[in-house]
Amino acid sequence: MPLQIITIPCLSDNYAYLIRDETTGQVAVVDVPEAAPVLNVLKDMGWQLDQILITHHHYDHIDGLEEVRKATGAKVYGAKADKHRLPPLDVSLTEGNTFKLGRQVCDVLDVSGHTIGHIAFLFKGAAAVFSADSLMALGCGRVFEGDFAMMWGTMLKFKALPDDTLVYSGHEYTMSNAKFALTIEPDNADLKARIKDIEYKRANDIPTVPASIALEKATNPFLRADLAEVKALLGMETATDAKVFGEIRSRKDRF
Ligand code: ZN
Ligand code: FE
Repeated sequence: MPLQIITIPCLSDNYAYLIRDETTGQVAVVDVPEAAPVLNVLKDMGWQLDQILITHHHYDHIDGLEEVRKATGAKVYGAKADKHRLPPLDVSLTEGNTFKLGRQVCDVLDVSGHTIGHIAFLFKGAAAVFSADSLMALGCGRVFEGDFAMMWGTMLKFKALPDDTLVYSGHEYTMSNAKFALTIEPDNADLKARIKDIEYKRANDIPTVPASIALEKATNPFLRADLAEVKALLGMETATDAKVFGEIRSRKDRF
């Protein structure tokens, strides 16, 4: 039985996700930018929240946590490495840990770079990964705490996932990411086709997430730093993959 996933817009451009194992009815939320939208959807669906899964310590991913915890009694899961700066955790996680939401197995990935201690939640059985501010639709998070080599290592973890895995990231930044991606690869046909789809979705107020790993690999410049064609476009034919990633990330910071 699959995982039911509801995308909940929060704040100005964040997403929280409610996920429900349909076999057992167990429910989790991934990140809590604010409490009210999450509690409202729970009420509308008639669901009880069992788990609060936190990707990283930034306020726009945890601000509603305590209110939702108090209202639901759900257990809080987060990175051990972030324990000192997250609200109290019931379960501390490191890479390689697995836990269950009902019958669904979740693998914990360390996807540091944006922050150190950023984790992603991978549900292989449902072909879904919750990546928040690590890999984003057509982009990646700004590298605040790690370095470019570390963030490139994180990109490689996503590249290694099965092509049909859907990436549920933490923000609706896709349109501005698309404009930047075009400056790196103006002739990428898959990218141009994807931008048409993004324009349609935004015009109709439809989230541009999730997107598949296959589509990200074909269009997201941050996953393409190891390709000879991308290195050539940047005049960096002999540079390491991590250096090329760093150049693309630096350009995006100035974009
Ligand atoms: Zn963040
Ligand atoms: Fe964020």
